[in-house]
Amino acid sequence: MIPFNKPYLSGKETEYIKQAVESGKISGDGVFTKKCHSFFEEKYGFRKCLLTTSCTDALEMAAILLNIQPDDEVIIPSYTFVSTANAFVLRGAKVKFADSNPLNPNVDPDSIEKLITPKTKAIVPVHYAGIACEMNNILALANKYSLWVVEDAAQAIDSLYCGKPLGSFGHLAAFSFHETKNVISGEGGMLVINDERFVERAEIIREKGTNRSAFFRGEIDKYGWVDIGSSYLPSEINAAFLFAQLEHLDQIQIQRISIWNKYWDRLYEPLSQHGIRFPYLIEGATNNAHMFYIVCRDLEQRTRLLKLLKNAGILAVFHYLSLHKSPYFKNQYDGSDLPWSDFYSDCLIRLPMFFELGEDAQEHIISTLIKGLED
Ligand SMILES: *Cc1c(COP(=O)(O)O)cnc(C)c1O
Repeated sequence: MIPFNKPYLSGKETEYIKQAVESGKISGDGVFTKKCHSFFEEKYGFRKCLLTTSCTDALEMAAILLNIQPDDEVIIPSYTFVSTANAFVLRGAKVKFADSNPLNPNVDPDSIEKLITPKTKAIVPVHYAGIACEMNNILALANKYSLWVVEDAAQAIDSLYCGKPLGSFGHLAAFSFHETKNVISGEGGMLVINDERFVERAEIIREKGTNRSAFFRGEIDKYGWVDIGSSYLPSEINAAFLFAQLEHLDQIQIQRISIWNKYWDRLYEPLSQHGIRFPYLIEGATNNAHMFYIVCRDLEQRTRLLKLLKNAGILAVFHYLSLHKSPYFKNQYDGSDLPWSDFYSDCLIRLPMFFELGEDAQEHIISTLIKGLED
């Protein structure tokens, strides 16, 4: 069976973990955590980076930082992972679901604007498949209505919009290093703080509501409980693993992009003829090859293709079920239909996409799809 994903190891992960263990310091914010922070701040120009235990936790930190209160409204796409919503629901916020757009699963700015009320506090765009949302329009809305913007950049490492890295547009942004993402640490994430006003409090929230980080820098002579917070920092063991990955980020990206391009070059013509759609990059967006997806004509065609792939020993998978129709939310949903979100729920397929997907395996996937559609 060709798996959907296989975590890639750059080779130094266990060596760095051993170094961390032997250094005698394995809790958070040690040498490897600092190396990871500097790496991201220098490579992407993010104002401040804080590793977290997951992207989910980075989103939760964002909700706390923005002082989201019960009855505040937060606009997120319905076509996303549950964490985008949960982080705000945990603060008591009312999530308002926006629709995707016809060209790709990213949120449609017009759909966002229709949901804005005096209670709206934040917009959370999700860069699906690492492809940029229409950040110019989203930032313009945020300006017009004085809203916070938190980018769910879980899938968006090393991807750009108009020459600027994703994760640098919002006041805050959250990345994931879950084993299914481009660079990984098992479970892990990062909060990016682009707005200076949130830097100090972010450190406090991440350290159980204490000012321990400032204490360790020698800025204060004792530390204590100064705010709400939780334990959001990963251990040095996770950071050591992640740093080994970051040293190989460029190679990882070259390899993934070449796999992605091969899918595109070989599949675009033959599959388009059967009404299948392909990833769409808005002008100014780059591709970080997080995912290769295709969008079938309808549910029937998708069911047939998934079965065909499975019978050929290929594990391809669908993706999100619209959150406004989820078992948890459907009874409280009082918004309008979101046809594009439902369309991607019914029709999208993700093909196997990982560093070690060999040429033979990829050929097999490509020819299975092409032949299967001809029958
Ligand atoms: C992976 C993912 C998350 C969650 O990341 P974790 O690190 O597993 O918490 C959130 N949002 C999106 C869009 C994701 O793809």
